[in-house]
Amino acid sequence: MNTLKYKRPKGTRDIIPEEFELREVLLEKIKKSIRAYGYKFIITPTFEHTELFIRSIGDSTDIVEKEMYTFHDKKGRSYTLRPEGTAPVIRAFLENSIMPPAKLAYIMNMFRAERPQKGRYREFWQVGVEAIGIKDPLIDAEVIEMGYSILKELGAEKLVVLINSIGSIEERQAYKSALLDYLNEKEQDGTLELCNDCKRRKNRNPLRILDCKIDGPKLKDAPKLKEFLSNESLKYFEEIKSYLDKWKVNYREEPRLVRGLDYYNHTAFEIVSEKIGVEDTLLGGGRYDSLVEDLGGPATPAVGWALGLERIINYFYQIPRISGPFYFVATVNEFSKGYAIGLLKKIREWKIPSDMTYEPKSLKAQMKIADRLNAVKAVIVGEDEIKLQKVRVRDLETGKEVLVPEKDLVKIYEEEMARRKGKEVL
Ligand code: AMP
Repeated sequence: MNTLKYKRPKGTRDIIPEEFELREVLLEKIKKSIRAYGYKFIITPTFEHTELFIRSIGDSTDIVEKEMYTFHDKKGRSYTLRPEGTAPVIRAFLENSIMPPAKLAYIMNMFRAERPQKGRYREFWQVGVEAIGIKDPLIDAEVIEMGYSILKELGAEKLVVLINSIGSIEERQAYKSALLDYLNEKEQDGTLELCNDCKRRKNRNPLRILDCKIDGPKLKDAPKLKEFLSNESLKYFEEIKSYLDKWKVNYREEPRLVRGLDYYNHTAFEIVSEKIGVEDTLLGGGRYDSLVEDLGGPATPAVGWALGLERIINYFYQIPRISGPFYFVATVNEFSKGYAIGLLKKIREWKIPSDMTYEPKSLKAQMKIADRLNAVKAVIVGEDEIKLQKVRVRDLETGKEVLVPEKDLVKIYEEEMARRKGKEVL
């Protein structure tokens, strides 16, 4: 083969038919579960005004600082491919005058210019939920439990919910200055050297240092966020945990979890699998009570999460081998081909995946192609069969043949599908 002239952009993926079919199965399950919790699905545009993301995610976050795909149109307007779903969903909630309480969900592709590696892409798919207009520990707990159950249903193993309360904006502000004092003191007496990223974060968003893979672990004796929380915030957090206990959700308090985005307050959580390590979060979310107002709406509390579809597929699934057409219609001559075309049309009206060779070929060559396509059964239309008003169906695995009336093709298909159900992904 010649060397390829064009390749897909770095960090993007082609979803080939095998993976497409697997995704369909997973997404069907996910949609069913999400709807069971009372959510309705929504789709927002692939790009938004850049300002929306800067204003909501925060201009000192990794996403806004270095990961957005921003472009200008011919009139000089700045747009950005959505890097996350919450801000667009809240924008759409306001713009379409959806009334709270509203439970909205989405399945959308996201774009972030990150360094590609396993489970980290520049275009990836997120499933997300946003419960808008409700503030009660019960909804925070329900949202977490829903994410946990969905991941479990999808086959993710050894799940742990990491959970923290980052308090109200005021509480966080007080903590921020205490943390800054601590960092300055340690840097001055030479007992702490921050990484380059954190040196920058220190002035813009010091809480993010807690989350840093390099520097976070160095801050074991730093002031604790929890010590700055009011009794009210602590009580809210305790109640969430008591629901999680009741529902037997496996969780662990993680005092250094602050999450990357600016709009979170109180509850912050991530779900990880101890099978693959805590670095690769499967799902992340939290409460964000000021975002709706920040985007120009009335004060409206909200809580939500997003899970990454590729992470689940990468870590818990093997891409399945998929079947080709169920029926491969084979002909013996021009006359039978004319008849077969009509039959194929009928099979397709019954919505049974089916195919044929279009160019004239010997029966042997047709069977070879059926094999290569991984077809399940061949339907052989010969002159004798036409005279008898029947078709010959050959199982391509066992070679067994039956002579049946056309209409039995539906029954054979349904029986075979029922037999496979549950045994195979597809
Ligand atoms: P975040 O919006 O960063 O909180 O991410 C929520 C979830 O989306 C993560 O837990 C991942 O499962 C997934 N995710 C985030 N970034 C990426 C990426 N670059 N590639 C693939 N999945 C991602």
